[in-house]
Amino acid sequence: MSTSDSILVYDGPKCRICCDLMPNRQIPLPNGKWVDVQKQGKMTLSLAVWLSDVYESAKTCVNCKVMIEALECFEVKEPRLEDDMFTVDGRVGTSLKLEYNLAEDEYLRFIEVFSDTESESCLGRATFIEADIDPRKAVEIAKRRLRVCVDSHDECRVGRRGFIPTRVVDVGTGDGQPRLVETTEDMKDTDYFALSYCWGLAQSLTTTKATLPNRFEGIPWEDIPKTLHEAIEFVQHLGLSYIWIDALCIIQDDG
Ligand SMILES: [Zn+2]
Ligand SMILES: [Zn+2]
Repeated sequence: MSTSDSILVYDGPKCRICCDLMPNRQIPLPNGKWVDVQKQGKMTLSLAVWLSDVYESAKTCVNCKVMIEALECFEVKEPRLEDDMFTVDGRVGTSLKLEYNLAEDEYLRFIEVFSDTESESCLGRATFIEADIDPRKAVEIAKRRLRVCVDSHDECRVGRRGFIPTRVVDVGTGDGQPRLVETTEDMKDTDYFALSYCWGLAQSLTTTKATLPNRFEGIPWEDIPKTLHEAIEFVQHLGLSYIWIDALCIIQDDG
């Protein structure tokens, strides 16, 4: 007996356009029945739909209506062109991803849609987080999510081990001063954060050949711009030791 697949025939999704946003149920048979194939651990949905069909279906299907509303949030107007279509990808419990490149549009656009309630469909749940959240609460949420990721996301683990950049910032503890460190071979499995951000017009704090020796000694808090300061503090609060920041970890005048 196969333990990975269960196959049964059912009457098919209520909506033939969005397949009720349920995973892997979209295989029709000639007799009008549908084969329900659910691969354990791969409860995914993958559809390509015509925008005009979804508009029509949205009159009666709440899931199609959700997708149209998501597109309209980003100012996709009612379609006039017959060849507008988009793809729908989802996995139970995560966000629904809509990707579209409408005929009159030069960019490929990508929208993620979440629900605020539990659902068996691919419209996964997200928690609403206030914009002016208490930083301590934000750290708790981040810690919890990081733990779930480390403990149970197989995909996130792929390629995670065995690499650390040449230099990282040691965030210090408490009021301790951050400093740049050269990594060693036995640190290659050490966890570190990476800050990805826009430099803006100028980055006031960088590492150059001239400043490198000082960076190993320590980087005074008052010299650290706000974005980097907050990132370093955040890593401290999460209880980790290292963060990679391009401006500091890459020697900026090194050919
Ligand atoms: Zn539908
Ligand atoms: Zn993860």
